[in-house]
Amino acid sequence: MMRKILLTGLVFSAMIFLAGGLGAQPVLFKEPLSPRIANYDIEVRLDSKEPVLRGTETLTWFNKSHETITELQFHLYLNAFRNTKSSFMKESGAKEKGRLRKEKSFGYIEVESIKLDSGEDLKAKMEFIHPDDDNADDKTVLRVPLPRPLLPGQAVKVNIGFTARLPEPPIARNGALKDFIFAAQWFPKAGVFEDGKWNCHQYHSHTEFFADYGVYNVKITAPAKNLLGATGVEFSRTENFDGTATHFYHAEDVHDFVWTTSPDFIEFKTRQYNVDIRVLLQKRHKAQSERHLEAAKLGVKYFEDWYGPYPYPNLTVVDPAPGAGGAGGMEYPTLITAGTLTGLPEGLRAVEMVIIHEFGHNYWYHLVGNNEFEDSWLDEGINTYSEIRIMRDIYGAEGSMVDWLGIKADDLQIRRFSYNLAPDYDPIVRNGWQYYNGASYTSCSYSKPALMLITLENYLGKDTMNKIMREWLARYRFKHPHTQDFVNLANEISGRDLKWFFDQALFSNAILDYAVSSLSSKEIMKGQGYDINYAADKEGKAAPVKGSKHAPKNYLSTVKIRRLGEFRFPVEIVMVFENGEKIREKWDGADTWKKFEYVKPSKLVSATIDPDKKIPLDLNWKNNTRTVKQPDEGGKRGYFQMLKFALEPQ
Ligand SMILES: [Zn+2]
Repeated sequence: MMRKILLTGLVFSAMIFLAGGLGAQPVLFKEPLSPRIANYDIEVRLDSKEPVLRGTETLTWFNKSHETITELQFHLYLNAFRNTKSSFMKESGAKEKGRLRKEKSFGYIEVESIKLDSGEDLKAKMEFIHPDDDNADDKTVLRVPLPRPLLPGQAVKVNIGFTARLPEPPIARNGALKDFIFAAQWFPKAGVFEDGKWNCHQYHSHTEFFADYGVYNVKITAPAKNLLGATGVEFSRTENFDGTATHFYHAEDVHDFVWTTSPDFIEFKTRQYNVDIRVLLQKRHKAQSERHLEAAKLGVKYFEDWYGPYPYPNLTVVDPAPGAGGAGGMEYPTLITAGTLTGLPEGLRAVEMVIIHEFGHNYWYHLVGNNEFEDSWLDEGINTYSEIRIMRDIYGAEGSMVDWLGIKADDLQIRRFSYNLAPDYDPIVRNGWQYYNGASYTSCSYSKPALMLITLENYLGKDTMNKIMREWLARYRFKHPHTQDFVNLANEISGRDLKWFFDQALFSNAILDYAVSSLSSKEIMKGQGYDINYAADKEGKAAPVKGSKHAPKNYLSTVKIRRLGEFRFPVEIVMVFENGEKIREKWDGADTWKKFEYVKPSKLVSATIDPDKKIPLDLNWKNNTRTVKQPDEGGKRGYFQMLKFALEPQ
């Protein structure tokens, strides 16, 4: 047979052949970086007319636990889109909205065959389970009993034949649109065996993913005219007689594998440190190639400089087809998706933010492989925190997100808006599918934890926080840490017991909100009445001296601060006087309110809590300042208000 073999030179210098029992395999790293529990050899072919994938998969799964295992569990994520009865569809309200009118809007994955490598059939005993919600119609988790127990230290090899159909257009991060294919969560994928049991959740409307690390060898056959991108590095590309090409991708120490193909991609390349960057851009967005390349370079630079090394040789950035936004803004190992609009002004930094954010996930989700179903803040929250810091460092705080036609917006400000939409429906730590609603999931997974970490950074100091973050990566690289691991690490590195902080911030729905509730500054008159010792009258000391027209005056200034939420946090308050004098006060923030009083020859003009904006977790910044001209709030009701209150139906 005549075949044209094109070897891509991408990282070949780094690859050597390893002749082993499994035959020649490419090798990227000298030593395994991860435990390599779930390893996949997959061959998949894209149907020429429909977004249908036909694949064979060999999973080599190592029992690295101390338990004897009697079954395997698989995620069949694509079945979330199978029909309107799946848990995903019920939770997202897709049925009610009538969003999915056409049959092709749905997608599925079918396990056609499943056998042990020895040939023993496992299909008869496989069954769908629904550990999270008892929805018997949900087919996103498959349980496969093993004919013999798998002892600690043993491996099992399973051969699976499957067919998958991608939804059109893409929904929840994957799918197809005409010739554009974005294949994510497209193959039967093992759950994680942890703490003596399988951790294999159903696919929900507000959950992401969780998997073990391993080696992937994936052969993808797709139209030869298309460009193709995937997790890992392209080891070879073979053109076939039928107008297709087979791409052999290899990835080590990754916990997922994604691929995309389109005839409309154009390719741009650059390099940052030791990372080859490849951007697959839609032709119509050609003018934005520099923006994409530059943002990817900045992402790599900042994360390597601030947090630690990115161990992979490459990064691919994908621009989904217009109308396929459902596949945009998403992270996968060594491949991320962005998304843009034709003519997007430079001052609207959506492209930059999304690329930096999604690349960041290659640290927080991929290298540190937390359970996204159960601790979504550990990836989204830590990553949003990183993104805000980087965006502000590059573009300046004021216009970090928008700097266009005189309009400026800070990334932090935008995240505060999202936090404000649902600040206390849930504690941050909660299973992804159990938040009150989508806004609360977003607030608790992204915005609130990011603001919490900035608050913590300002409280502990930048150096300590940087040490915590670098150690978080160093210690939990290629592991599956939980929330408590982060709390313990922060305590250890800071040398403090931060339980009081994390208990409030992570495990309760307490609101942090301090307000200047009252401010007055009035001239003091000389004491009058019975028993006044005029000579010793402190307040009267600077009072007008008899006969003097321009005698110095004294003012009694009173400020009251209230804690409006349950969250107790120490605050600073700055008092500004008419003569320019400033006094900084500290309050532990524990009681429900605190009074400050001054007797000075100058009038108090204003009082501001947290003047340096070190506590972005403070829900309302508007009530942080009060000037002498503003009327006090609370404790007073005019007759009209009292009457109105009395007449209102209660
Ligand atoms: Zn994210």
